Amino acid sequence: MDSYNEVMNQINRQDDWRKDCVNMIASENIVSLSVNKAICSDFGHRYAEGILGGRDETGARVFDRFYQGTKIFDEVESLAMSLSEKIFNSEHANVVPISGAVANLTVYHALARYGDTISGLSIPCGGHISHTHISSAGVMGLKEIPYAFDKDEMNIDVDKTIKIIAEKKPRIIILGCSLFLFPHPVKELRTIADETDAVIMYDAAHVLGLIAGKKFQKPLKEGADVMTASTHKTFPGPQGGIVLCKEKFKEKIDNAAFPGLMSNHHLHHVAGFSVALAEMEKFGENYADQIIKNSKALAQALYELGLNVLCEPKGFTQSHQVVVDVSDLGGGEKIANDLEDANIIINKNLLPWDTLEKTGNPSGIRIGTQELTHVGMKEDEMKEIAQLIKKIAVDGKSPQKIREDVIELKKGFNRIHYCFD
Ligand SMILES: *Cc1c(COP(=O)(O)O)cnc(C)c1O
Repeated sequence: MDSYNEVMNQINRQDDWRKDCVNMIASENIVSLSVNKAICSDFGHRYAEGILGGRDETGARVFDRFYQGTKIFDEVESLAMSLSEKIFNSEHANVVPISGAVANLTVYHALARYGDTISGLSIPCGGHISHTHISSAGVMGLKEIPYAFDKDEMNIDVDKTIKIIAEKKPRIIILGCSLFLFPHPVKELRTIADETDAVIMYDAAHVLGLIAGKKFQKPLKEGADVMTASTHKTFPGPQGGIVLCKEKFKEKIDNAAFPGLMSNHHLHHVAGFSVALAEMEKFGENYADQIIKNSKALAQALYELGLNVLCEPKGFTQSHQVVVDVSDLGGGEKIANDLEDANIIINKNLLPWDTLEKTGNPSGIRIGTQELTHVGMKEDEMKEIAQLIKKIAVDGKSPQKIREDVIELKKGFNRIHYCFD
């Protein structure tokens, strides 16, 4: 096979395979045809280096650009900003960051000094690598201080964490995480943030779509100074990032994004993000509501089938995620691999009682319902999926046999809902 055919074949195989899968990676989603059109549009070929210059006499945003050809894109970026500010109730939006990790780095660059400390959850408790020295935070020389964690509540231990913050005085208090079942204590940490002159950064990478649909907490209203996110996890946009912030941080954030960290900012992503914002403005509440219903239904069904689903006394979850401890079924690595052989795509995950040495075969699996919700699945399908998972993980049935059932189940669900297409 020549190189051209080789790569085209790889692309076609991926498209065909993942269409036949129940895709439940909690950080993924697929986009509508209209978002896809934006991603494939001419904007993807262009540059728009520059910065917001202010407003003209009609009130329209003016951008100071370095290249010609950006007049229509200026309208697109302005609309993306206005829609974001409206939907997330934010004083300012910066849509330049090209991913969630880069959005976090933008905030670190804007609001911390090299070598400062930040605080967040440790990785086994759900913290993201970009909250630690091994990733974005390390670029700024930031040192992380972990919070105290309540394993029964699967949440930050507020009283102990307030003491940690009072003693260590981190520059940035990070809330939000990657193993995210319940809202984080934003209100509860606002006072200690004020007392220690810290900034609260809420990382909404996972839950931006639920926040857009008004079905999770409202971090900015509850006291976060800055909210960062990926635009492609529960939020059904193209892969990218965003920073939302109070007016007083606007200039620093904008400068940190450009020229601080980005040169060009993936204009097709901004256009696609705008389309997804319009979709969420109209359909977001129903979408987010169904995601959470589906998570609860899946968790309940798995629990009734004998799996060790976390947080039963708390109703399992208030997000798109369901977390299962599979340590006595062979561990997260084995279960994730077996499920993949049956076209059920999930990921192994460290749980709060795991050490980092268990990264290869952690105790848990993490399951997300947002993508299946986006293609129209409801509670009945969640119950069917729970049965299929149980047959493999508990009964030890051959994944290859179950795969036929998975493909059959997925057949009716390859069209995107909650959009204008
Ligand atoms: C996924 C994730 C990120 C990183 O987002 P990317 O868009 O992959 O760069 C940042 N923070 C949290 C909490 C995440 O889960």
